[in-house]
Amino acid sequence: MTTSDDLQHRERMIALVEFTSTSLATEFPSPFGSSIYDLQSGQLVAQAYDTVIQHSDPTNHAEMNAIRLATTKLGQLSLHGQILYSTCEPCPMCMSACIWAELETVVFGASTMEDANHYWPQASDLSPAQLVTHMRREPKCQILPHVERSSCQELFRQCDEVLQQRSLRLPPNR
Ligand SMILES: [Zn+2]
Repeated sequence: MTTSDDLQHRERMIALVEFTSTSLATEFPSPFGSSIYDLQSGQLVAQAYDTVIQHSDPTNHAEMNAIRLATTKLGQLSLHGQILYSTCEPCPMCMSACIWAELETVVFGASTMEDANHYWPQASDLSPAQLVTHMRREPKCQILPHVERSSCQELFRQCDEVLQQRSLRLPPNR
């Protein structure tokens, strides 16, 4: 990863944190956001935050929503040539979806167990890095951890503050 790539990843993650923070003013505050960019053109293809509680759908994590938006928009199954950003380390469901979608790279900010789990109890501790070792396609999806981690941690903290201020409680196991 070159310095310019590093700067670009950080800029895109900061933009994603800003986008995701807009959810804090909605009825369903969430610190989980995801965006997808085309590697060649650099264009933003899709971005979303999680809508699990809003739609009562345990599969509506931010990454799943972003992947669905991107494949629908492009009218294709494969997101080869695209890169996904997430404010949090993808869970096994989302990382598996990234592998099925043939995303080339996954960049995340906060860790699931070390950061997110404190606020939003995680259902699994299987890491994206472990899942990638089981990929049958080469080259394997590249994972870039902890890009703007502190900004993402701050997003979790702010979201928790909003939930407490508004006496909102997460449903069991969320
Ligand atoms: Zn997930």
